[in-house]
Amino acid sequence: MIAERISRISPSATLQMTARAAELRSSGIDVINLSVGEPDFPTPRNIRDAATFAIENGVTKYTPGPGTIELRKAIAKKLSRDNNLNYKHQSIIVSCGGKHSLYNACQALFQKNDEVIIFTPYWVSFPDFVSITGAKPIFVKTNPDKQFEPQFNDLIKKVSKNTKAIIINSPSNPTGGVWSDESIKQVLEIANDNDLWVFSDECYEQLTYEKPFKSIATYDNKSNKILTFQSCSKTYAMTGWRIGYMAGDINVVQAMSKLQGQSTSCPNSIAQYAAIEALTGDQTQIKNMRNIFKLRRDYIVSELNNINGIKCNKPMGAFYVFPDFSHYIDNVNIKGAYDLSMLFLEKKAVITVAGNAFGSNNNIRLSYAASENELSKAIKLINEVLKNL
Ligand code: PLP
Repeated sequence: MIAERISRISPSATLQMTARAAELRSSGIDVINLSVGEPDFPTPRNIRDAATFAIENGVTKYTPGPGTIELRKAIAKKLSRDNNLNYKHQSIIVSCGGKHSLYNACQALFQKNDEVIIFTPYWVSFPDFVSITGAKPIFVKTNPDKQFEPQFNDLIKKVSKNTKAIIINSPSNPTGGVWSDESIKQVLEIANDNDLWVFSDECYEQLTYEKPFKSIATYDNKSNKILTFQSCSKTYAMTGWRIGYMAGDINVVQAMSKLQGQSTSCPNSIAQYAAIEALTGDQTQIKNMRNIFKLRRDYIVSELNNINGIKCNKPMGAFYVFPDFSHYIDNVNIKGAYDLSMLFLEKKAVITVAGNAFGSNNNIRLSYAASENELSKAIKLINEVLKNL
């Protein structure tokens, strides 16, 4: 009954954990949810006010499929201001979240017999975005001790005549890893030599803690095959508003617009209006959020490393840590990260996401988009479970 293409994808593991947390909460259990992929701050006041203005002033109709010209011009300004990237609004498409832009770009570019390079651990949706087009995800190993940068011998081995694209996500979900300039340049060189598209998912671009973020397309101004994906979701605590965008080759933008016009018509008009305020209005909230996240990162990394058997490298971006629990995986009672993550959930109501969802059996993703008090309680509870194993 159901079309074959749906069997090529799996439900989002992170959204499943969010649903499980809601279930436990509704049955009266005091849950600590470290599975969330969104800031725990409210959307800043000026952005909410802009949305109210839009509602009251008739900004409530369909917009052009790829987004309003005003918003696309605001994005062009933002890309120039923050990322040193120069795009005209015609080379920008706004979608219902960065996820939707990524999905549409995969649909526009990939098909059967294509191969797409994805680095492991990967964001849950990348393999599914590729598989549903009929193309094949090809997984490349990374180095956990070096911000999960690519293992280049593996990358070179995996590039074939069928390779069509490489997906980069730095800062990364789930690892928080931020790649060095050298690694990025090396990947771009390989992409250039093999005439590959480069997808740069930069939705955590404002969340780097040791060095300012550098957009991938600024490393190589010769290539017109780099597509830059960004989002209002994490930067402005706007996950539910669903505004993300892509800047890049105009033919790809047009193909994506055609698809978008026939699927969602356009992104939400009110959210688009508010996104203009987000991108061009007061930016101080970003810095405030970043400072808080950095303190929490330092706290959680140090606490996790104090637990016997856990190894947690310090990620340089995003709001996730991805500690290694292999010490506790005995392949008998605990076969992998999934079993451990379920123990934390069932015994102590601490919700995490097992690394299995991201292609890693030894790690668990913990989000520190939670208060220090909650983080402290969660660490204590996790430690209690581990001590009793
Ligand atoms: N890319 C990565 C790596 C993410 O972690 C997420 C959200 O979790 C997205 C893209 C999509 O975000 P949104 O669709 O809310 O812009």
